[in-house]
Amino acid sequence: MSTLKPRPGILDIAPYVGGKDSIPGFEKPVKLSSNEGALGPSPRAMEAYRKAAADLHRYPEGGSTDLRAAIGRHFGLDPARIVCGAGSDELLNLLVRAYCGPGDELLYSAHGFLMYAINAKGVGATPVAAPEKDLRGDVYELLARVTPRTRVVCIANPNNPTGSYLTRDELRRLHAGLPADVLLVVDAAYAEYVSRNDYSAGLELVDAAQNVVMTRTFSKILGRGGRRLGWRYASPTVTDTISRLRQPFNVNAAAQAAGIAALDDVAHTDAQRTNNDIWLPWFSNEVSALGLKVHPSIGNFVLVEFPREKGRDAEAANAALMAAGIIPRMMGAYGLGHCLRIPIGREDEMRAARDALARFVGKP
Ligand SMILES: *Cc1c(COP(=O)(O)O)cnc(C)c1O
Repeated sequence: MSTLKPRPGILDIAPYVGGKDSIPGFEKPVKLSSNEGALGPSPRAMEAYRKAAADLHRYPEGGSTDLRAAIGRHFGLDPARIVCGAGSDELLNLLVRAYCGPGDELLYSAHGFLMYAINAKGVGATPVAAPEKDLRGDVYELLARVTPRTRVVCIANPNNPTGSYLTRDELRRLHAGLPADVLLVVDAAYAEYVSRNDYSAGLELVDAAQNVVMTRTFSKILGRGGRRLGWRYASPTVTDTISRLRQPFNVNAAAQAAGIAALDDVAHTDAQRTNNDIWLPWFSNEVSALGLKVHPSIGNFVLVEFPREKGRDAEAANAALMAAGIIPRMMGAYGLGHCLRIPIGREDEMRAARDALARFVGKP
């Protein structure tokens, strides 16, 4: 037996398993397993990526300076308070490493994004889950679980995989109830898809307080999951802390160049949003009409609930979709084994998914 022992917490981590991307026997399955943008990457981003190949031997510019300037211009933010990372996953991890340690607590909403608990365990901290009401985060329950050990609170807004969100008022109440030495992380990976006017990605809180961070990603509406790019916006204090901790060349050169091009391709982003605006409500209505519960979503995916009955349950539905060449995401890791998460793809993909579900429930 090995005498090597990782630090406490690490062996408690159930490794994150990403969405499947293949089905034996299907050359081009419909991949609806990872919430990637329906229309793929911007052609302009692909071109910038190809061009960057000529400088493959060069180290990237370590501060992502041009990219941060582009993000600043695009969103009207101060580039000095932006930090870029290899996906927002890297930044979420850095934030937890910076502010949480052994004996500390990281608070999140029960069906929140899996990486929050994984990051907490990775630093020897305890993940604390606050119960939800009907798969929606609850400010009262969250605040009731704040203790002197709480260091970080992570909220995905909107949340993956439930599609629900905290309103601007709820987010403000949550922040107001937290001690000033607790960091509130608003993970707004799907913010670009949201059109509710009571929604907030947390920007006004970042501007008003030292202890709030907003994280964003290029992986979802910007269709760039394969190139790993995210960013976060926070006070100068938190920015300084994270800048000390991050690897000097954490964002590769091709990701920086393609990221700038993706931001500039506003028409492509608009097309992604329009596709979602059409097919999210269509798919939600169609699947509801089949007698399945569809949780209301403001992201680019829906959580579909199945009866807890062998042969009609989520596992059987997953098998039926896979047999039709469609890959959804099973949700057991989120404690939602009776649900499947289905992202919004293109029209042909959504019609195929709807038809496969209709056959599954016997209403073709
Ligand atoms: C997809 C996702 C992320 C991770 O995005 P990357 O930038 O690809 O690391 C973070 N948070 C939530 C809620 C997500 O769904």
